[in-house]
Amino acid sequence: MKEIFEGALLFAGLFFLAATLRYLVMTGAYYFIVCVLADKHLRKFKIIPSFSSRREMQQEIFWGVTNNINFALMGVAVFFLYRAGLLKVYFDVNEYGWFYAVAIVPALLVLHDAYFFWSHYLMHTPWLRKLTRHDVHHRFRNISPWAAFSVHPGEGFVEVLIRPLVLMTIPLHPYSIAAFAFITFMLNIIGHSGYEFFPRNYPTSPLTRFGSCASFHFLHHKNGNYNYGLFLSYWDRLMGTLHPEYEKLFESKAKNNPLSLPRSGLINPKPRREEEGV
Ligand SMILES: [Zn+2]
Ligand SMILES: [Zn+2]
Repeated sequence: MKEIFEGALLFAGLFFLAATLRYLVMTGAYYFIVCVLADKHLRKFKIIPSFSSRREMQQEIFWGVTNNINFALMGVAVFFLYRAGLLKVYFDVNEYGWFYAVAIVPALLVLHDAYFFWSHYLMHTPWLRKLTRHDVHHRFRNISPWAAFSVHPGEGFVEVLIRPLVLMTIPLHPYSIAAFAFITFMLNIIGHSGYEFFPRNYPTSPLTRFGSCASFHFLHHKNGNYNYGLFLSYWDRLMGTLHPEYEKLFESKAKNNPLSLPRSGLINPKPRREEEGV
């Protein structure tokens, strides 16, 4: 019994520590490089007029770290599920092949985004908003990258709930899990970064039309009736909750971006003539 308790505690501590280090180091590096060092060169891409105040940023970090309590709980869940042999994680990549290990990552993104959209949508109903304290995340209107994970642990619990379920039902190699964790972490930081760096026709190109971006999520912080998606925007397009000003805001911030995505899927190095005057 003592052994089980110590094992669960060890997993809880390791998951909490790993999540907190990841949050502080990766978000800190992004914040320092983009928002401090390069800010004066990136003003034309800036969506927000200014960053959160020092006090607001402290609040963002406080909730960002507190929310990692859910990763500790996930560590405990993983420990018990692993002991019970209920995890579908496999360690020999040849078991399902490299194609599967790579292709499962975008598939997980689509699945996770669908879960996020609907749980987030429900968190905007009065009862669940109160229960999960979703209002904590909406305190941050003038967002910074630190706000990416700044939610009340009640909301964070709902958000991580899908992860053990995925680990129990979908065969995943640790490489795929690591790639998914890295991509989603970065997308979340970029979504809260306050700059729009994506190619200037990102919301309209058939290649990226269903993606999300910083302008997309910024508008959700501005008006919680729109843009509930996280990594993708297709549920909002489907459900009629896409912010009407989304493309206009995006274009106004990305018009100076030299990159655009044509239908061919190749990147245009120079702006097209008709787009120059936009
Ligand atoms: Zn947010
Ligand atoms: Zn919300």
